[in-house]
Amino acid sequence: MSAPLPVVAIVGRPNVGKSTFFNRVIGGRSAIVEDRPGVTRDRNFGQAEWAGRPFWLVDTGGFIGEDVDPLAVAVRDQIMAAIGEADVVVFMVDGREGPTAEDQAVAEILRTSGRPVVLLVNKLDRHPEEDAQHEFWSLGLGEPLPVSSSSGRGSGDVLDAIVAHLPERVPPGDDAPLYIAVIGRPNVGKSSFANRLLGEERTVVSDIPGTTRDSIDTPFRYGGRDLVLVDTAGLRRQARVKEGVEYYSALRTERAIARSAVCLLLIDSTEEIHVQDLRIAERTLDAGCGLVIVANKWDLIEKDDRTSAAYEKHVKERAPSLAHVPMVFISALTGQRVRKALDIALEVADRRETRIATSEVNDVVGELVRRLPPPHHHGRAVKILYATQAGVRPPTFVFFSNEPKGFTRNYLRYLTNGLRRAWDFGGVPLQLRIRGRREDAA
Ligand code: GDP
Ligand code: GDP
Repeated sequence: MSAPLPVVAIVGRPNVGKSTFFNRVIGGRSAIVEDRPGVTRDRNFGQAEWAGRPFWLVDTGGFIGEDVDPLAVAVRDQIMAAIGEADVVVFMVDGREGPTAEDQAVAEILRTSGRPVVLLVNKLDRHPEEDAQHEFWSLGLGEPLPVSSSSGRGSGDVLDAIVAHLPERVPPGDDAPLYIAVIGRPNVGKSSFANRLLGEERTVVSDIPGTTRDSIDTPFRYGGRDLVLVDTAGLRRQARVKEGVEYYSALRTERAIARSAVCLLLIDSTEEIHVQDLRIAERTLDAGCGLVIVANKWDLIEKDDRTSAAYEKHVKERAPSLAHVPMVFISALTGQRVRKALDIALEVADRRETRIATSEVNDVVGELVRRLPPPHHHGRAVKILYATQAGVRPPTFVFFSNEPKGFTRNYLRYLTNGLRRAWDFGGVPLQLRIRGRREDAA
């Protein structure tokens, strides 16, 4: 049995340096750092490790003491949720501003939260000459630790303090969590779907223009399995979107596909499927990721009992290469079949790990070749001498042939479809490789 990783949440007012710290610990570009106050991100999870102890680090948005605007309320709710889920809370304050009334308000919540708290006094770039951390003893949260997130100074001691509070180490499980991504064009309902699935308001939805959010990795358990939902709703509805941000959103989708076992491609069932949807679908399979097409907003459709079949037929006629991909019709609004979509994704993930015995592979391939032999190549018969499954995730089949160059695209497609039908590989990308007979011995 694998134990979920412990969770460390960073909370604090906006602009104290939370995402700077987060990025320093996580490395890479997992969170957007903005220099303007009031720019908020959603909770952002990343895996970190210190002194051999892996954990999830959660970057929350900023905490605002008074309910001045709807966004602030939403952000505060996020933090309450983050505290609820955290094993350790890192409370970050700004050493250049001294304890503020808002810091006191957060401290009060934290003192009653029952969670271990590590108090970080950030922006003390010239520590030890700068020792403003002592003022923060007044928060009643124990020893304030000086740190400079931008330079990294003090971060080692801080990380020592954090991992000291992590729950007892449990033997690591065999199975890493399964990553499932929610992808699709803006406004198809990705956030609504993720929220519905995770059963709580995890994402800040705000109509304030210019608000950006990152994709979030949310670990959760479902049917006894450790899963991570990757939500790529990187962009809020807004009148004008800066080019750079849009690019960022596309990049997020790519990265989500690259690290996920299965993608749930959301489309809007009130519209015809877009060319862009088909393109993303093909990208996903090309990248070796499993695929489920999720037609959302089904509650808006006037239906008789043939509508979903007709819609699916239409999609698959437009994109024959997606004929095998499972499709499910849901409503993120009402919750209809939202879990079903996840169940189907898990089936696809399982099939993506299937190993087929070599004898079975050869039986099926033998039958396929009997039914339709490969076309001749430069007047010579093309034979498949032997076939085997060489790998999983995605399933990869190797064919040894006397004429490896003789395989046409059409014939490869025929073989792929045959393998798919034989083992129910719907939604699973299959890779075929053809090798010459010499390599047979290798
Ligand atoms: P968040 O809103 O709490 O996530 O804060 P950010 O990480 O976005 O940081 C807010 C601003 O403080 C940015 O301009 C950072 O460059 C700056 N900042 C963060 N950490 C430090 C630090 O250790 N020293 C100094 N001097 N500036 C910092
Ligand atoms: P995202 O940009 O893909 O994350 O899309 P959102 O989740 O923000 O949804 C875009 C809009 O569609 C919002 O106004 C949602 O309330 C609405 N929406 C999402 N799912 C459904 C649904 O299943 N049915 C209906 N009627 N509206 C939905």
